[in-house]
Amino acid sequence: MIKAIYAGSFDPVTLGHLDIIKRASKISDKLVVAVLENPNKNCLFTIEERKKHLEIVTADIENVEVATFKGLFADFAREINANVAIRGLRNAVDFAYEQQIQLINGRLNDNIETIFLSADEKHISLSSSAVKEVAVFGGNIDFMVPSEIVGFIEEKYMKRGV
Ligand code: ADP
Repeated sequence: MIKAIYAGSFDPVTLGHLDIIKRASKISDKLVVAVLENPNKNCLFTIEERKKHLEIVTADIENVEVATFKGLFADFAREINANVAIRGLRNAVDFAYEQQIQLINGRLNDNIETIFLSADEKHISLSSSAVKEVAVFGGNIDFMVPSEIVGFIEEKYMKRGV
């Protein structure tokens, strides 16, 4: 049985993340999309908002569950008895970073195997920070994030008055 975790900040979830979620759900029995609560990161959305966005966009995928966690990924994986970590790779820069994380996670929890999924070519240039850089100036983000999320992002910037 493959119980996989796909972890990230998802601030906000992009079409690139959603593509990885859909593909990972097909190769796992259960996929937990885990939102990381990182006190050192200044996020646009609260952890509850990010969880809600992920629940909305994954509502029609039966074996996907959304969770939040604090602290080490390796500890969270142990806590929920997961055996696979899913990571997305856009380019060689992602690979260098992700390889390091994978090696460290492997030392901290030897029950976890990492599977890398390469980004679809449509999503190679997408990142949560790119979404925010465009949205802050009122640019079109329709091609970057799931349609259900566009309004939440626009609303957030309107409230901030930027
Ligand atoms: P973090 O904020 O922890 O870097 P992200 O939420 O940006 O996390 O990313 C979580 C995972 O999704 C990482 O494995 C990252 O490489 C992957 N990822 C991010 N954007 C894309 C994309 N456009 N296509 C495929 N994978 C992606």
